[in-house]
Amino acid sequence: MKFVIATRNSHKATELKRILEELDLDCELFTVADFPGAPEVEETESTFEGNALLKARALAKFTGLAAIADDSGLCVDALDGNPGVLSARWSGATENVDQANLELVLEQVKDVAPENRGAEFVCAAVAVFPDGQELIAIGEMLGHLLDAPTGENGFGYDPIFVPQGFEISTAQMSATEKDAISHRGKALNDLAIQISEVISQF
Ligand code: IMP
Repeated sequence: MKFVIATRNSHKATELKRILEELDLDCELFTVADFPGAPEVEETESTFEGNALLKARALAKFTGLAAIADDSGLCVDALDGNPGVLSARWSGATENVDQANLELVLEQVKDVAPENRGAEFVCAAVAVFPDGQELIAIGEMLGHLLDAPTGENGFGYDPIFVPQGFEISTAQMSATEKDAISHRGKALNDLAIQISEVISQF
């Protein structure tokens, strides 16, 4: 079965593709880059799954293929769960966006005591099939925020996030280490299991 992944973020496309390929699903994967003219979808919903469904529905309609999309973000306890669905555009910056977003969050939590610096990454991964069938999986990674960026790997807020049970940031982990515990890894593993059940019905 052919699937198309609804993201233009190359880091995420690679991460998503690697996880799905490791799961050995009997499917051929494309990304939105393989479909010139595919619609740009605005993330107007207030939930991760709502936004992921908007993207997957639009791409399934455009391509006629089963579409996979995710939406994810960082929810910080001391910021009432923000930046949440606004994670990618929290600072409003148009250049060096990841860096500007991360610096704004650091500034916003600078006076927060270490014991109150809890945060979590959340990911909703969804699949929309050409017949309209929809699958939803949610993954979370609990942890806390550092007060300065540490590590060179990953993207986004990785340099300031330490997962529960670890003493290094997700930017100090290899891609494989991070996939094994990440919100996206968990959501995609769950989604892949649901997809394999659907595929087995064909
Ligand atoms: P999305 O493209 O709307 O899902 O945006 C997600 C945003 O949340 C990204 O641009 C990052 O800022 C942040 N984010 C999501 N997952 C991660 C992660 O695994 N590491 C670091 N930042 C992440």
